[in-house]
Amino acid sequence: MGVRILKIYEEEWSYIPVGGSLPNTEQKNLAFGAAASMVHPATGYSVVRSLSEAPMYASVIADILKSNAYFRKNSIIGSVQNPSALGLQTWRTLWPQERKRQRAFFLFGLALILELDIDGIRTFFLTFFRLPHWMWQGFLGSTLSSVDLIWFAFYMFAIAPNSLRLSLIRHLLSDPTGSTMIRTYLTM
Ligand SMILES: Cc1cc2nc3c(=O)[nH]c(=O)nc-3n(C[C@H](O)[C@H](O)[C@H](O)COP(=O)(O)OP(=O)(O)OC[C@H]3O[C@@H](n4cnc5c(N)ncnc54)[C@H](O)[C@@H]3O)c2cc1C
Repeated sequence: MGVRILKIYEEEWSYIPVGGSLPNTEQKNLAFGAAASMVHPATGYSVVRSLSEAPMYASVIADILKSNAYFRKNSIIGSVQNPSALGLQTWRTLWPQERKRQRAFFLFGLALILELDIDGIRTFFLTFFRLPHWMWQGFLGSTLSSVDLIWFAFYMFAIAPNSLRLSLIRHLLSDPTGSTMIRTYLTM
């Protein structure tokens, strides 16, 4: 666009952790947002998901507190009897098995991209953006269910060139994220 850089004042680097492990959902300490692994592993975004899940998360905590506490004139005078049960129930709202399946799928994709060389990455994205709009948009926006994601994988495989097909199969059979994804999908 004809922009000429006259002087560099500062170069900015930013670090967006994506992927990583899920929080231990058996613990009684609760978390939310990035601390609860709600960052999309493929995009690094989390704001929309955090905003949309916050009301449900808060209402589950409020319901549990109400059912476990003694109230007098709008103030709580008794405490929750079983904090670990509260933790477990609340974590389940944030990370039901369906969400865990979707995340396992995203982590598999992330690990694949990280293994590809520059030509492989270009091929991957050219193929990705040839998918039907609802598919690639749903993938990026976390709106595809775990079953939709299987269709996504088959579609991607069908339109991918052989080099990418080979990488996908090799990755599924050899990378730990492949076996984790299969295990997570099979867990009810
Ligand atoms: C350059 C850049 C661009 C981005 N663009 C987008 C975008 O366009 N869309 C999008 O959705 N996401 C984007 N993200 C990601 C998004 O900003 C983060 O996922 C989001 O800010 C996470 O919000 P959070 O409140 O969960 O966590 P954080 O923003 O990390 O907030 C956690 C807070 O807790 C504080 N804290 C940590 N430990 C303690 C402690 N022990 N005691 C007290 N306080 C503590 C921290 O100081 C921090 O203020 C971007 C990130 C970067 C770096």
